[in-house]
Order: sequence, then C-alpha cells, then structure tokens
Amino acid sequence: MVYIGPVVHQRYAIQLSDSVRPFTYHRASSLDDATRHLADKSAIPIGGGTDLLVFLQEELAEPSELVGLSEIPGWRDIDTRDDGSIRLGAGARISDIARHADIQRSFPALSQACDSVGTTALRHMGTLGGNLCQRPRCWYFRRNIKCLKNGGSDCPAKLGENQYHAIFGGGPCYIVHPSDPAVALTALDAQVEIAGKLGTRTVAAEDFFVLPSVRLDRETVLEHGEVVVAVEIPVVSAGGRQRYDKLMQRGSWDFALVSVAAVKRRDGDVRLVLGGVAPKPWRVTSSIEEDVASGNLDETDTATLAERALYDARPLDRNGYKVEQASALLRRAITFLNES
Ligand SMILES: Cc1cc2nc3c(=O)[nH]c(=O)nc-3n(C[C@H](O)[C@H](O)[C@H](O)COP(=O)(O)OP(=O)(O)OC[C@H]3O[C@@H](n4cnc5c(N)ncnc54)[C@H](O)[C@@H]3O)c2cc1C
Repeated sequence: MVYIGPVVHQRYAIQLSDSVRPFTYHRASSLDDATRHLADKSAIPIGGGTDLLVFLQEELAEPSELVGLSEIPGWRDIDTRDDGSIRLGAGARISDIARHADIQRSFPALSQACDSVGTTALRHMGTLGGNLCQRPRCWYFRRNIKCLKNGGSDCPAKLGENQYHAIFGGGPCYIVHPSDPAVALTALDAQVEIAGKLGTRTVAAEDFFVLPSVRLDRETVLEHGEVVVAVEIPVVSAGGRQRYDKLMQRGSWDFALVSVAAVKRRDGDVRLVLGGVAPKPWRVTSSIEEDVASGNLDETDTATLAERALYDARPLDRNGYKVEQASALLRRAITFLNES
C-alpha cells in the first residue's frame, strides 16, 4: 500500500516495505517555477501520481522533491482552435480528453485510445503528460530485477519471460511502451511541446519516443528537468476516417497486448501505427501506408499489406502470438480505411 502523509509542512513520506522515505512536495505556481525546481538533479515532476507513486514504492527512484504541475495556469486546458487544430495541456485528464465533444468528433482515434486506458479511476486521475512519460511495465524492471534499465548488464527478458515484450525495435532492451494515447497521437501527427530551464522546443510525437538502442535511461527525448507542456494536433489530421483498436489479455481493462491507430486523412494520406509491439509507437513503413491510401483493396491485397507490414517483426521465444494479433488488427484497420 502507498501511504503518503504529511510529516511537516511540505514534507511528506512514502511508506516502503521496511522503511519510510521522506521527500518534499513543491506545488509549482508557474512553468518557470516548475522548471527552476526541476533543475535540481533529484527532483521529479508529478502529474496524477498514478504511475509515479507506485514507481517510488517499488523503490525504482529516490527523489528528494516531487514537483506538482497541476496548479500551473492553463495546465489542464483543452483548447480547440478556430482552424480546427487542438491543443491539449499536459495536465488534461485522460477522461476529459476521452469525453471531449470536439475530440470525439474530429479526432476519434484519440478519444477511443483514451477511453481504453486502464480503469475509470485511472482515467480520472491520470494526465496526458504523465501517460506519455509513464515508465515501462516490464516485470523485470518493475520488480527491480537487474536489467539494462536499472544498472544491470543484460536484459533478462530476452531469454526469459518475454510474453509481453517487443517484436519490433527491441535490443538491447525489449520493453514495449505502455501508452495507448501515444499510439493515436503518433498517427495524428501530433507535436509535443517541451519546456526546460533553457527554454522550449517542439518535437513530433513520432520522434518524442526513443528506442533502447538510442538511450536506456528513459523512453523519450526528455532531458532531466524538462517537462511536457502540451500536445498539439494539426487540423490536417481532423476528420477523415480513424479508429483505435486494442487487444488485451483481460476483457475489461488492461494494457495493450497489441493495438493499432488507423487514420485516413481528408487529404488521402494514411497513417498506421501499432502499439504494444515495440519500445515506442511503431509506425508501419510509408510504402504500405501509400498502398493503403491508393484504395480499391480486396481481401487478398489487404492480407498481403498486413503481411508486408509485419515482415520485419522479430518475435522472441514467447511472444510470436503478437505477430498474429498485429496481423488481424492491421487487416481490420486496412479494411476500415478502404471502406471510405
Ligand atoms: C493498473 C494500471 C493500468 C493501466 N492501464 C493503462 C492502459 O491500459 N493504457 C495506458 O495508456 N495507460 C495505462 N496505465 C497507465 C496510466 O494511464 C498512467 O499511470 C497515467 O496515465 C499516468 O498519468 P499520471 O498523471 O498519473 O502520471 P504520474 O504518475 O504523475 O507520472 C508518470 C511519469 O510521468 C512523469 N511526468 C508526469 N507528468 C509529466 C510531464 N508533464 N512532463 C514530463 N514528465 C511527466 C512523472 O515524473 C513520472 O515519471 C495504467 C496504470 C495502472 C496503474
């Protein structure tokens, strides 16, 4: 159980199995205030706390300060622009994004992805920024069994219990990124706005997530002290045909075994992005997207395209089933896009 109780003013403690670890909680009043505090090497940002507090209890991080972002002006806002694009504050609740009428109408792949996240309580507590930056669910990493992400010299999943691990983009570590919204945002060509002590920058969602071959300490391009401020979805991705499909081990709520975000934009361009299969949302190659965009596909064409999309999959000993699942989801998605 996680117990957080006041020790003295702004001093808190988290109950571990055999001890209590104190930390300071700082409620940032502005973005400047947040980035100033986060410049401290042992400070960590906190959104809804649904992942971070468990992570601390698992003794996977030892921050001296948690910096609360929720009081930063505009942090939770969802702004629809006159041109039809939309800006989501990093503090926007997953449930608010799922239920937002403009998002349901213009970006249904995102509202469906948000609606598929965990439980109702998690969607109410969890923020967009926290969801994109949540840490991997790999059971070796989360149980502090030595691995490449926690100071070990090898990935135990590679030859171990790798049922839920990557079939694309793995090596030297084989985590999959757990976020559903990340998959939809990649398919919608969203831009992620980042702020740190040295200023702001914007990166495409597709480039925001990085492979373990690039870095092992994190799953994103964020440097220490940087936070996600907002995510913007361009008007070019509004409307058209789009959907998000997710296969789970449990029927009711779970992380994705495999998921797919499929978008056919009004300008005819297609985006197909897989989730649950790689350390980052995995976009299928552009030549396949172009062939799907050309339309007039029969069942054989659809099956061939799905097969081509999975040609580079490299399943581990125990996750070959993900190739079958991805193939089924891709065929369903391509058929859906082809119906327009
Ligand atoms: C049982 C369970 C089931 C779940 N199922 C799903 C699922 O099906 N699909 C899915 O997508 N997710 C799922 N999740 C993850 C859940 O959605 C996340 O816990 C939640 O979205 C994280 O949001 P948060 O605001 O609580 O983040 P926090 O717990 O506050 O933070 C998570 C991480 O993000 C960092 N962070 C927070 N905000 C920012 C920011 N603005 N900039 C930079 N870093 C930041 C924190 O430092 C921390 O490292 C599940 C979680 C649980 C516990």
